Amino acid sequence: MHKDIATPVRTKAILDKYGFSFKKSLGQNFLIDTNILNRIVDHAELTPESGAIEIGPGIGALTEQLARRSKKVLAFEIDQRLLPILEETLAPYSNTKVINEDVLKADVKTAIEEEFEGMNDIMVVANLPYYVTTPIIMKLLEDKLPIRGIVCMLQKEVADRIAAKPGSKTYGSLSIAIQYYMKAETVMIVPKTVFVPQPNVDSAVIRLTKLQEPAVAVKSESFFFQVTRASFAQRRKTLLNNLSSQLPNGKAKKEQIVEALHQAGIEPSRRGETLSLEEFARLSDHLYTHFQ
Ligand code: SAM
Repeated sequence: MHKDIATPVRTKAILDKYGFSFKKSLGQNFLIDTNILNRIVDHAELTPESGAIEIGPGIGALTEQLARRSKKVLAFEIDQRLLPILEETLAPYSNTKVINEDVLKADVKTAIEEEFEGMNDIMVVANLPYYVTTPIIMKLLEDKLPIRGIVCMLQKEVADRIAAKPGSKTYGSLSIAIQYYMKAETVMIVPKTVFVPQPNVDSAVIRLTKLQEPAVAVKSESFFFQVTRASFAQRRKTLLNNLSSQLPNGKAKKEQIVEALHQAGIEPSRRGETLSLEEFARLSDHLYTHFQ
């Protein structure tokens, strides 16, 4: 087996050889701890038949571990300067492919069809660039990719919001947007010391497992998300105030909003943070008739 990339000594040697300087604007914090990487990969529960999609391979620290434990790895890396490095570090792993593209602009679905043909267990595993964690996760969900789930490192504060339950301070429209599609769990808290350079914030690993069906059935998905976003526009405001100030023509339709809240069995004075996904689904379906 080849020497691991993710050790402080090997990482420094690689970076020095290529004169690589980190770009903070690209969220470049590389992992230098093989144990942590292995634990992240454990949570993905890959088999030799699995396909792995990685976002931001950096110098290949995680890519290497994924290559050893899956059939094929497809990695999207935005920074062209990393390509010659990855060519060298991943040379021993013929089951890896790096695509030099911004993942937010990439057609990931087509890439999956082309690169993972005939494979039916696909996981996204990544140490995400922290400046775009939420847009990346939302894109992966909204693209409705044929994946089993996502295991990724991100800021602990965002992990808390994603996995939050109703009634907690961090529960909001992001928790709902993700829990609509996925079961969300924080599986690891990671110290700053395992990165170079060290990030300013605490980190965590979350595991998102795709649900067979969305968590709740609604008449219109886009309207459901519009209602949830509106409900959290100002956390301290009541549902009635947020909905009437945020929904199109909401002020004029205040009475209909009150009616929909009553039909859904929800007190207008409650705050968005107290509603479960089921309650939001009921509310959105009753409001839909007035706002479609
Ligand atoms: N996987 C490596 C590791 O764990 O050491 C590097 C992780 S580093 C936190 C994030 C990586 O994502 C960097 O390599 C960065 O260049 C890349 N990146 C940043 N924005 C990106 C984007 N929009 N699309 C693809 N890759 C991106």
